[in-house]
Formats: sequence, C-alpha cells, structure tokens
Amino acid sequence: MIEEYVRCIHCKVVYRHRVSGSGCFDAYNDKDYCHDCKEVIVNALEKVGPRAESFWGPCNDITVDEIEKELGRRDAESGLTFRQVFPGYVDMEDPDNRYITGGIRINGKDFTYNYWTKRGEKEVKIKMERDLQTGQEFVWRDYRSRYR
Ligand SMILES: [Zn+2]
Repeated sequence: MIEEYVRCIHCKVVYRHRVSGSGCFDAYNDKDYCHDCKEVIVNALEKVGPRAESFWGPCNDITVDEIEKELGRRDAESGLTFRQVFPGYVDMEDPDNRYITGGIRINGKDFTYNYWTKRGEKEVKIKMERDLQTGQEFVWRDYRSRYR
C-alpha cells in the first residue's frame, strides 16, 4: 500500500491519500479532496446523474492493418511508443493461435482492435458517445484539460 499526505484543495486540511493497495478505490479516497469534502461532492453529484455515456461501436473507417502500420510508424519515430495494455485471451487448444489486441488514438479518436492470428476476422471499434437524453450518438472526444 502506498499512501501520501496531501492538503485538501477546498478545506486545506492535511489528510492521508491512499495511492494504491487497500482502500485506494474507496469512494471518498481522492488525491485532491479530503474524505469529508469528497463525501459532499459524491453525494451532490448523485443528484445530477450522467447525461452521456461512452461505448465502443463498430468501425469501418480504418482497418487493423492501417492501425498496426501507424503503431509501427510511431515506434520507428520515437523508439518506444506508450501503449495501453488490454487483457488478452489464450487459445487452450492451439497456443500458436495468438490473440492480438490494442488501442490507439488517431486525430483525437480512440480505436481498439483485436483478432486471432489463425482466424480471419479482424475487428476495429471506435469509442462513441451516446447522449442519454436524446439517444444521439457521436464519436467520443476527450475534452479534458491538457494543462493539468
Ligand atoms: Zn477538505
């Protein structure tokens, strides 16, 4: 377990933040807010509820071969590309049949792909947004601040 002492950005008390291990996923454990302030935030946000959700939708705009080519280009350019790690599967009857999966962001769009090396179909999915009030669907874009 890793813990750190940090100052709450709201009430300014010094508190113990659990970075990893037991308790790190507790609802009120937060790197910015103490337990009391985070409890108020969580309870207040429960009344609002989400207005959109993300999901992985089918995608025909790009192929797995094009994604792997782009990953190879980035590797060649930078030496080592930072990649997301995805859980894989194992073919218990044929260990040579490898499951290949991964993800990439291209021009702000997030894609995942997967396939078995000995089976034909290669699948690409794109991260989508669904407006929970209208049902409309759009390509997901991350609007998080890049200055944090
Ligand atoms: Zn606080």
